[in-house]
Amino acid sequence: MKIAVFSTKVYDREYFEKYGKDELFDFTFFETSLSAATVNLTHGFDAVCVFVNDKVDDETINGLASNGVKLIALRCAGFNNVDLESAKKNKIKVVRVPAYSPEAVAEHAMALILTLNRKTHKAYNRVREGNFSLNKLIGFNLYKKTLGVIGTGKIGAAFCRIGLGFGCKIIAYDKYPSEELKTSGVEYKTQHEVLEQADILSLHCPLTPETKHIIDAEALTGMKEGVMIINTSRGALINTGDILDGLKDGKVGYLGIDVYEQEENLFYKDLSESIIPDDLILRLNSFPNVLITAHQAYFTKEAMTEITITTLNNIKSFKKGELLENEVS
Ligand code: NAD
Repeated sequence: MKIAVFSTKVYDREYFEKYGKDELFDFTFFETSLSAATVNLTHGFDAVCVFVNDKVDDETINGLASNGVKLIALRCAGFNNVDLESAKKNKIKVVRVPAYSPEAVAEHAMALILTLNRKTHKAYNRVREGNFSLNKLIGFNLYKKTLGVIGTGKIGAAFCRIGLGFGCKIIAYDKYPSEELKTSGVEYKTQHEVLEQADILSLHCPLTPETKHIIDAEALTGMKEGVMIINTSRGALINTGDILDGLKDGKVGYLGIDVYEQEENLFYKDLSESIIPDDLILRLNSFPNVLITAHQAYFTKEAMTEITITTLNNIKSFKKGELLENEVS
């Protein structure tokens, strides 16, 4: 089975070669992402394997279909970058990795909180330069603070458990509240109440038309002065222009993001010697209370192993004509 792997980095290749070597898979690794502009590379392949920033829209899928591709294997959980209607119309199956160490992402969300709060990134640089002063490094106790969680699926639930361990009060909103989390001490409230009462808000819902720009100027108005906002889910949950205004007027006290609305032109690329064309991210980077990581929350050894093995199993099931348990439809 011939598989074109897009947006490949050295580490993706290492894991696929490690876990896929005994199988009858014929992988071709492309560094470029998949989009309408690169779909001609898929001629003669049975499947494509894609990641979060590949643009698998209608035009791309039409191209895949005419090149004979029958399967889109996402090596991630989110599928907002795939036009499912178009895939259905073109009789192309879509599979994903629904869960791969939710703790990896939840722990990264907490890492963003701890870094923003206790400023360890600044302290590290200071001390290395012989500056042992504590000026401006003051943080706050997480103990007894209110953590607001939007979306308590696999990652949100793992995040709630971490927050409970820190002695935080956890309030959450999800359309489908979890009885188990309730028993553990998580209090479910309306989305409005969560936004209004949270000292720290962490977003763990998927990106859908309903959740797009869930954090915008209007949502910010009802939030606490100096709130900390953490997004490890998808960039477009936050309206970047509005959050910039919130940072400028002090409404947003801290912002920690692992995802960014326009990330596909930036993340996973080394642009250190380039002119960065995105003014919004440069402005965000200019704030001392903003911390940006480049979609790395998932990036642990455990998650990479799980992603690779599940992707290989998804492809194997497709090849054998078995029921696709991780199909997105
Ligand atoms: P999940 O499906 O287990 O949980 C999502 C939860 O969100 C569900 O409980 C669902 O009911 C809830 N939800 C849906 N719409 C909602 C709404 N309008 N308001 C509130 N809650 C809503 O998914 P998960 O595995 O926990 O992943 C969550 C998201 O994290 C994914 O969609 C993906 O975008 C993101 N993610 C990011 C990374 C990363 O590296 N940064 C890695 C994996 C996943």
